[in-house]
Amino acid sequence: MDDFVSTVETRISERPVNGTTESSNGRYEIAWSLDRTSDVGRALPAAVRRLREAEVESPQLDAAVLLAHVLGVTKTWVYAHPTRQLTEAEIGRYEALVRRRMRNEPVAYLVGHKSFYGLDITVDPRVLIPRPETEMLVERALAEIQWVLQDGRRPVVADIGTGSGAIAVAIACNAREATVYAVDISDAALAVAEQNIWRYGLVEQVHLLPGHLLEALPEPADVILANLPYVATDALAKLPPQVRDYEPLLALDGGPDGLRVIATLLGQLATPKGRGKLRPGGRAYLEIGSDQGDALRALARELLPGASVEIQVDYAALDRVAVIEL
Ligand code: GLN
Repeated sequence: MDDFVSTVETRISERPVNGTTESSNGRYEIAWSLDRTSDVGRALPAAVRRLREAEVESPQLDAAVLLAHVLGVTKTWVYAHPTRQLTEAEIGRYEALVRRRMRNEPVAYLVGHKSFYGLDITVDPRVLIPRPETEMLVERALAEIQWVLQDGRRPVVADIGTGSGAIAVAIACNAREATVYAVDISDAALAVAEQNIWRYGLVEQVHLLPGHLLEALPEPADVILANLPYVATDALAKLPPQVRDYEPLLALDGGPDGLRVIATLLGQLATPKGRGKLRPGGRAYLEIGSDQGDALRALARELLPGASVEIQVDYAALDRVAVIEL
């Protein structure tokens, strides 16, 4: 039984995909379409096969998530309803999404959201997709915020390079007493962060600020959080295609050694004005790359002599968070 090629359409794509052939004009053709009378039970395995052929990492999961998105239901519902007929329009939308996934477009951009710290965060190509590793930054900051509350103070938190606003929103939702500043140099990213802040009803609690790192902060923070770009420029080409070809470079490219933007932040903290952005006893939590612990320590020694630096590892025992106290 051939359940997906009864009517073969040809689509021209810009990007090469495994299982596609290069055409004479140098572009790549993807031929894939579903039977016009498909139901869930036929469409799903057909899509899984094509995604697997295209060497997409998690074909089963992605095929189900995309179909659930098209149908406006949950993944579980999809698995439980194999005989649900797909309309012509649903088939068309599913085919289009599967083809885009075959070209490595991230699922989060295809469906427009990503879960992070138990929240649903709106994303699009203007922002980095929140990663599970970054949840550790949120967890550590929330513990720190508890100390501030125990001191009887109103915690002030700054999320520097907020992107989608995932960190700021997660902090605000889990620490209602905290005032949160969310800063980004990209207006495009701030527009996405704004959507997330509205979605969660946090307009009074989270303040968006366009600006370069600490410069725009209007008051000293107890906790500074930052997931800044930390991939070395040379290493960008080696990132998985779904990252490299789709996510914003501004959020990834950390310059020649990957630490250029983090060094700029430390440099700001070294000036009297920058130092004033962190309340005495306050801490900065910076996400770093899995092999950057030693380099970060050396950098902090050079730029912030006298500061204490602790490198925390994630659940995979990789360097993940640098905690700096001035
Ligand atoms: N962790 C990201 C990646 O895997 C990098 C994010 C960053 O540079 N802040 O690509």
